[in-house]
Amino acid sequence: STPFLSVRDLKVHFSTEDGIVKAVDGLSFDLEKGKTLGIVGESGSGKSVTNMAILGLHDPRNTALDGEILLDDKELITASEKELERLRGNKMSMIFQDALASLSPYHTIGAQIGETYRKHTGCTKREARVRAIEMLRRVGIPQPDVRVDDYPHQFSGGMRQRAMIAMALVCDPELLIADEPTTALDVTVQAQIMDLLKDLQQEFGTAIIFITHDLGVIADIADDVLVMYGGRCVERGTKKEVLRDPKHPYTLGLLGSMPALDGPVDVPLSPIPGSPPSLLNPPSGCRFHPRCTFADKVAGGRCSSERPALEVVDGRGAACHLTPEQKRELFPDYAAAR
Ligand code: SF4
Ligand code: MG
Repeated sequence: STPFLSVRDLKVHFSTEDGIVKAVDGLSFDLEKGKTLGIVGESGSGKSVTNMAILGLHDPRNTALDGEILLDDKELITASEKELERLRGNKMSMIFQDALASLSPYHTIGAQIGETYRKHTGCTKREARVRAIEMLRRVGIPQPDVRVDDYPHQFSGGMRQRAMIAMALVCDPELLIADEPTTALDVTVQAQIMDLLKDLQQEFGTAIIFITHDLGVIADIADDVLVMYGGRCVERGTKKEVLRDPKHPYTLGLLGSMPALDGPVDVPLSPIPGSPPSLLNPPSGCRFHPRCTFADKVAGGRCSSERPALEVVDGRGAACHLTPEQKRELFPDYAAAR
């Protein structure tokens, strides 16, 4: 059977005054119904760009898409804007880091949630209001029948995030894309929102793509993980495989810069030295080689001359020239440590 969402060799290239920026450069993955895929990487790794392309929210004037995006067998790259508009908010939906940017300051929370529902169902305003109150209740807004008439500025940050989730789920979408939805929130509210998303996923059976730079969030919510670097996938697998038995030096770096999963949160973090690659003139060979501490372990300078292939077997793979023996020898034993 074909997966619910299938992305094949996706390329997203921007034309700029300085040349072509290859923001996403040959990305493939599948997502099953009701599952959560975590996409993790530093900013500029192409994770948000990938998802804007799925939603059809890129700017067509300077963006070229190539490859395939199949949502329930519907090809999205070639879909018309009209078709995409019908799908967005209905079959696929999104929440972002900044609820204020997705909510209009000039309309009540209830009107905005109701409007999305009306647009896709053609129901009456009264029905839309009832639905908006129901959704606010489901996302845990107290006194939803009163707060429905509030404006976004009358909500706290956490409540606005809940309202945005209510708006995203009002048409019962099959795919929800969540792009760093908790990054701006304090830790307690963050945990509440994550719990809410997990509950709603149980209830609605939504497939979720969760974009984050934080492996701790991945550990909390994802079934499968895709690690992106420089517009490409460098490692993928189940959450357990990737977090306990990483196969790529970049993933190791991310793990090194997060607190131990069960340990105290105040251990010093060690960010990966160096900065993300330019996607205008990406490094040759392995795009991670200028920052990789293992590059000198690979003979013949292959790290800087030859692109490592991503060979995926049963959903598991990593793009790195190191041999399995070298990885066993060189990488820390995370399974034992965690
Ligand atoms: Fe490091 Fe080379 Fe593996 Fe790239 S291919 S991650 S540079 S060891
Ligand atoms: Mg982003």
